[in-house]
Amino acid sequence: MKLSVCDYPAPTTDNPSRDYSRSDVVLPASRADAVAMDAADPLANVRDQFQLPDDTIYLCGNSLGPLAKRAATRLQDGVQRQWGQDLIRSWNANSWFTLPERLAPRIARLIGAEAREVTVADSTSVNLFKVVAAARSLRQGRTRVVTEAGNFPTDAYVLEGLAELMRDPQPPVLARREQLLESIDDDTAVVVLTHVHYKDSALFDMAELTQHAHRHGALIVWDLSHSVGALPVDLNACDADFALGCTYKYLNGGPGAPAFIYAATRHHAAMQPGLVGWWGHAQPFAFDDTYAAGAGMRRMLTGTGSILGMIALEAALEVFDELDMQVLRAKSLALCDLFSRLVEQKCAGHGLSQASALPLAQRGSHIALRHEAGYAIIQSLIRRNVVGDFRAPDVIRFGLAPLFVRFQDVWDAVDALADVLTSGAWRNSALTQRATVT
Ligand SMILES: *Cc1c(COP(=O)(O)O)cnc(C)c1O
Repeated sequence: MKLSVCDYPAPTTDNPSRDYSRSDVVLPASRADAVAMDAADPLANVRDQFQLPDDTIYLCGNSLGPLAKRAATRLQDGVQRQWGQDLIRSWNANSWFTLPERLAPRIARLIGAEAREVTVADSTSVNLFKVVAAARSLRQGRTRVVTEAGNFPTDAYVLEGLAELMRDPQPPVLARREQLLESIDDDTAVVVLTHVHYKDSALFDMAELTQHAHRHGALIVWDLSHSVGALPVDLNACDADFALGCTYKYLNGGPGAPAFIYAATRHHAAMQPGLVGWWGHAQPFAFDDTYAAGAGMRRMLTGTGSILGMIALEAALEVFDELDMQVLRAKSLALCDLFSRLVEQKCAGHGLSQASALPLAQRGSHIALRHEAGYAIIQSLIRRNVVGDFRAPDVIRFGLAPLFVRFQDVWDAVDALADVLTSGAWRNSALTQRATVT
């Protein structure tokens, strides 16, 4: 299936960095129009590749992507035949040991990297430790690490732990977005940024910030958790040093799916990830007493990978094989625009506001709104099978994953939101009891 970038009305399709000018866009004016737009959607048959409950509008693909049908089949095979029958022979017979290399080209294509610059292992949090340690091994003598305040907390926690371990004279600098540029100075070893913000969806200009870090002699690490699979990323073109990200969000790898790491080829020979183990050894099956780093991305591995997780992930990544990320981005922007406009039209006067004032072209693929009763509103929506989520203290998020969300889903979700607000259904006290996971 080859798609044309002209299939969506968004003017950004030929140039995603151009301002997303609302006046050029023709969006559905009725539910019937939305249904018609879905019928003409070149990505419509991609939705059929997922198992989605009929009665649910799923707007949490930015947090846990849905189950690809082929992932379910492949996992069955991984469990029953590979594990159940072939048992330990699978390491060779089913190429378990080389799964990280097998997954690399598919991820590399989505992030603008060479396959030899990518591997798959561990969680995003663990990989951040390894990647930042590796970056710091290339900037010895500098101890300043800069990141954004208010980013997804694990990123800051990992940096804090690493700073303590390395006995840095100061903790990592948590800079506010407005002060980020000036916080990067000639003592800075590494800058760690998340490409799309998990809460307000703000998108950093990767090329500009990378250049800025390099001008000060610092290296940069990009966390792609909320951008990979949702919008085009070109690490090589931006001259990025390191990157990493989740695969269970827009890549639909499944709960706890292993994360990925990218390191630019120029860093491979000297980088030292700190957390080393036998899977990263040059010759793991020589069982030497001393460590010798493996070549290239192999040294970023530590111990035995999550095989079933990688089997599911491989199938989930195949869904992207023929897709053009520019087309996905165009649809994502059209979905976000429709959602925002309908919220303006139908939900005004109820205390809702957009979490970001940035134009859509400078945001990712989820819409973030603020409301002081955000948790109860989301619970009320979930009761109606419109699944979004809540991030404390007051943000409600709607992930508009372009692979499977339809224009009619956006239409119906905003109708449900308007109804929850006008009826006051969210005031039901049972909805304010917070579950363990929000
Ligand atoms: C989702 C997310 C993570 C998740 O980390 P895990 O180790 O998988 O729990 C980390 N960083 C960012 C920016 C995220 O959005």
